[in-house]
Amino acid sequence: MERRDFLKKTGAAAATVVAGSAIAAPAVLAKEKTYRWKMVTTWPPNLPVLQTGAERFAKRLEEVTGGRIKIQVFAGGELVPPFGVFDAVSDGTVECGSGAAYYWAGKVPAGQWFSSVPFGLNAQGINSWFYSGGGLELWEEAYAPFNVIPRPQGNTGVQMGGWFRKEMKTIEDFKGLKMRIPGLGGKVIAKAGGTVVLLPAGEIFTSLERGVIDATEWVGPLHDLRMGFYKAAQFYYYPGWHEPGTCLEVIFNKKAYESLPKELQAAVDAIAMETNFWSLSEFEAGNGAALQELITKHKVNLVRFPDALLNDLRKLAKETLEEEADKDAMSRKVHEAFKKFKEQIGVWGSVSEKPYYDVIADEYSLKGQ
Ligand code: CA
Repeated sequence: MERRDFLKKTGAAAATVVAGSAIAAPAVLAKEKTYRWKMVTTWPPNLPVLQTGAERFAKRLEEVTGGRIKIQVFAGGELVPPFGVFDAVSDGTVECGSGAAYYWAGKVPAGQWFSSVPFGLNAQGINSWFYSGGGLELWEEAYAPFNVIPRPQGNTGVQMGGWFRKEMKTIEDFKGLKMRIPGLGGKVIAKAGGTVVLLPAGEIFTSLERGVIDATEWVGPLHDLRMGFYKAAQFYYYPGWHEPGTCLEVIFNKKAYESLPKELQAAVDAIAMETNFWSLSEFEAGNGAALQELITKHKVNLVRFPDALLNDLRKLAKETLEEEADKDAMSRKVHEAFKKFKEQIGVWGSVSEKPYYDVIADEYSLKGQ
């Protein structure tokens, strides 16, 4: 570049900067603004990955924004009841919340498909649906009438089938069974003749121990060990057909989210995605050791659901999903999109995941069984 041209260009650039800073003064002030938000969750205090994940989200967001967003996190019941999170975010009592979409099924039935679908997608599949298959846009559409914006914030991976006080041999054994189980899986159990109870985490153990409920599912070994369910029920069943990859959510009041400058919205989205990935990693890393401890130290009776029982549940699940989808237009729209994406994943999975796990099946083993 000629020296004269260079001077001309840098001079012009300098002039632009000066003019720009004069025009952009309000934007500079906006950049200095600190957003102090409150987050409410459905989780008990200090509950690993779930509550600590919500706290991690707040901490990381503060780090990456240089302190421009500071979120004070309240566990379930500290500010609002555990199942009051969605309403508190929707009406603007707080700016954000953390929970799972199936907890608000009474308000947003279509939301259930974004937490977990019985015999549906695993963590890898549901994340692919959210980020690369149009799932997140549909979720935003489902929550839009409530002025709530959702983001995936965690994933449990495949859950356990649950803790039962009696052996489960056939589908008939669900008749009259009182079980704590949320979401679409709960509706399948109801269809099988069970009585479904929805309890927040803090009330499950006591209900099981006192026989108020006959069975409960919760998450997986990492959390189930900590909850002490092995002291209240004899049989620990697998696999978690009802929750093969449950998504945990962070939700934002629309007005609060939109009040953020674009770069802070981008930071919120990025940290939600990071926390989603971190959470699944924590579950995957922790579940094996916890399961081994349940078996060897606490002598838990680990049982696989019989194939015939699983097949019967699968039939009921298909019927249940169609019935639930018929209840409102958004549920139907989401269900059809989910089914289509699951087929797409299945085509690829038939030559990737499935044969791969078939080949190395003998490397999956539990000591002491
Ligand atoms: Ca569960």
